[in-house]
Amino acid sequence: MIQILDTITANGIAAGEVIERPASVVKELIENSLDAGASIINCDIEQGGIKRILISDNGCGMTPEDAVLAFERHATSKLNKISDLEHLTTMGFRGEALASIAAVAKVNLHTRQIGQEQGFEVIVEGGKLIKSQIVGCPEGTQIEIRDLFYNVPARYKFLKRDQTEQGYIADLLTRLALARSDVSFRLTSNQNNLLHTPGNNNLLSTIYVLFGKETTEAMVEVDYFFEPVKLSGYITTPQVSRGNRSRQIVLVNGRSIASRIVSAAITEACKTWFMKGKFPSLVINLEIPLNLVDINVHPQKTEVRFWDEQIVFRAVYHGIREALESGSTVIKGEISSSFYDSITPVSVKFKETPLDYSFDEKKPHANNPLKETITQATKQKYNADERIHPAEQARAFIMHQQTDQADPEARQTELSYLKDSRLIGQVFQTYLLLEHENRFIIIDQHAAHERIIYEQLHDQYMKNKNQLLNKQILLQNETLELTTHEMALVEENLAEFDRLGFEIGLFGNNTIIIRTVPDTGKKFSNPVSAVKSLIDSILDQSFFQEDKHDELLYTVACKAAVKAHDNLSYNEMKKLISDLTELVNPYHCPHGRPLIIELRQTDLEKLFKRIV
Ligand code: ADP
Ligand code: MG
Repeated sequence: MIQILDTITANGIAAGEVIERPASVVKELIENSLDAGASIINCDIEQGGIKRILISDNGCGMTPEDAVLAFERHATSKLNKISDLEHLTTMGFRGEALASIAAVAKVNLHTRQIGQEQGFEVIVEGGKLIKSQIVGCPEGTQIEIRDLFYNVPARYKFLKRDQTEQGYIADLLTRLALARSDVSFRLTSNQNNLLHTPGNNNLLSTIYVLFGKETTEAMVEVDYFFEPVKLSGYITTPQVSRGNRSRQIVLVNGRSIASRIVSAAITEACKTWFMKGKFPSLVINLEIPLNLVDINVHPQKTEVRFWDEQIVFRAVYHGIREALESGSTVIKGEISSSFYDSITPVSVKFKETPLDYSFDEKKPHANNPLKETITQATKQKYNADERIHPAEQARAFIMHQQTDQADPEARQTELSYLKDSRLIGQVFQTYLLLEHENRFIIIDQHAAHERIIYEQLHDQYMKNKNQLLNKQILLQNETLELTTHEMALVEENLAEFDRLGFEIGLFGNNTIIIRTVPDTGKKFSNPVSAVKSLIDSILDQSFFQEDKHDELLYTVACKAAVKAHDNLSYNEMKKLISDLTELVNPYHCPHGRPLIIELRQTDLEKLFKRIV
């Protein structure tokens, strides 16, 4: 028997589509505030928004009649007929959000139209109108949502911890604030200020407030036109990179979206610039004529459909490449050694548009002359690098010992000859050169040190019980700026960091202090970047997976090790070599790259054609 559902049930079901968690409530309400023309939007939450969300805006406000009507399904002031759909510039238009939210929470709305004497209050609980009356209130709209899902236990059960829900909201506010630098956003949680943007219509100062100084200073401008797409924004050069894409904000016509095709274009464009597993922070906006993009595919409007994906791909790809190429020549501030550390040997991997997004001759954009110019420029650049890159040529001589199963005693004697070898010195502040009988040996100092430390940490990890890694106190505390979301993650996992040897203190709203690092018996090279990597591993969950702990140890070892371009004293080199002979696997760094290359005298003689 078919039945027509009553309104409350129907709204409850619709709510499931749009309202998944506190962050979805915040999103809908802030979009309404933006549609109402607000220039200041404040969001105050308690217990991750589950207990209470209060959004206040200085927008146009509503008449008493509209304030009641707003809670009806399909009540919207933004769309009259289907033909309007193509020309929408507002964030909402379905007229569902308020009805859906009110169906699953307790809502208290105060609103006063600009210039009106009196305000109006509407109270709705679980979809039922409880009360509406004239009241005094500020101009604009304040809407308070309490006890989300109090009447839908099934949904309530799926909510995560307060901190996690708060993180989603902070992330959302970050995206909205970056999309609308002309609006001032403030987020407080249990009265603590989490973020507050200036609303001065300057994207870079908004980025500064949200991502911090270091990231902002490493950014270059993106400014590119690829008919009919206009691309603008900022991207970090490889100087500052991250282990995930969480700081890649893509906007289409000013709204934050997710798009496979744009992500693919970013990945391709960054491939030769950033090391594998490293990503830039970026905020880019694509301006596309409204009729060429459909933002209404997804009920929460986070996905878009483009009329021509190839053009969008090329716009983003070339726009980003151009920005990175221009930026790489002017590196602002001091070039730290970690900068070198994060540069990929581009020449080996470089390929132009490996995906087949080649130009289609039939399309009007086929003859874009920009593409040719860019391709030429990049090719020249990388060819130049290729010539001076010796790694490829030497590859033929890499030692291929399989040592993993062999007995440690035997191995030690195998490499112990290194101790008796003559240390010739260091070249390019990166490689150690040695001679022994008829062998010429080259050691990558960073890879070798990384391996040594990794094995040390691995030993500690296997022996220790509760404290996984031993600690050493840093002579000088290091500080690190974080986003609100990251801060919450660190705060939640302080004990885990401690177990891994990192004693971390919280300092103000978004700064942490690193007091100790894992004990490697030596100076720990880069504590800040080790902690950053661990935060990234929290984001991708590997932090919590025991079978991924070995990878965490690699990462920590990598950050602890001396870097390429560190000058080593004679004694430091000697120590490194003798440590190396003690290792279980002295042939490869934890990432699998070779760390020793050996040339026989005969190899050299062949190269010089003394023998054939
Ligand atoms: P939609 O945004 O899709 O129109 P909503 O359910 O989100 O639907 O909102 C219903 C209507 O309530 C809106 O069309 C708008 O007229 C009004 N409204 C909601 N929030 C506000 C606000 N903060 N300021 C002014 N008007 C609002
Ligand atoms: Mg809306």
